[in-house]
Amino acid sequence: MTQEPCQCSDCQKFYRQHDRFIREFPTFKQQQELNWASIQSFRTLCIKVTEELQKQLSEVHSNENLVVDDKHMSDIEITEALDEIENVNAYLHSIEALMERIFDTRVSKEVELKFKEISKELAPDPLNLDRLILNRLFHQTPDFPDKKKS
Ligand SMILES: [Zn+2]
Repeated sequence: MTQEPCQCSDCQKFYRQHDRFIREFPTFKQQQELNWASIQSFRTLCIKVTEELQKQLSEVHSNENLVVDDKHMSDIEITEALDEIENVNAYLHSIEALMERIFDTRVSKEVELKFKEISKELAPDPLNLDRLILNRLFHQTPDFPDKKKS
């Protein structure tokens, strides 16, 4: 017996995103570029936030008697966040090294066509014309009342 995939809102969001990435990046090359860019953008953000938090932390230390309002994070909170983001950055760095290997791989035109073909089967375009026509037939909506008159 096969188990039904989970339909909670998080999973549904994941399925939608998953299918969109297949639909919008249907070739091997596009998937390489997409994943490379996503890892790099994640790293860029993490590095920038780390820098900002470190700056904030040194400011907290140089202004010990400054009144801390609730908009600001305590130095403990900052230190904890820094630890976590630094860990993530280390993982991202490892993923990047693997991604570089994947990025070096080239496939033939024939294989790229296979990728495109399979992607259409896996994630058909919800706005595909055939589908829209089919839906219209199902629902029998008179979309073009003007045409009926002629
Ligand atoms: Zn779920």
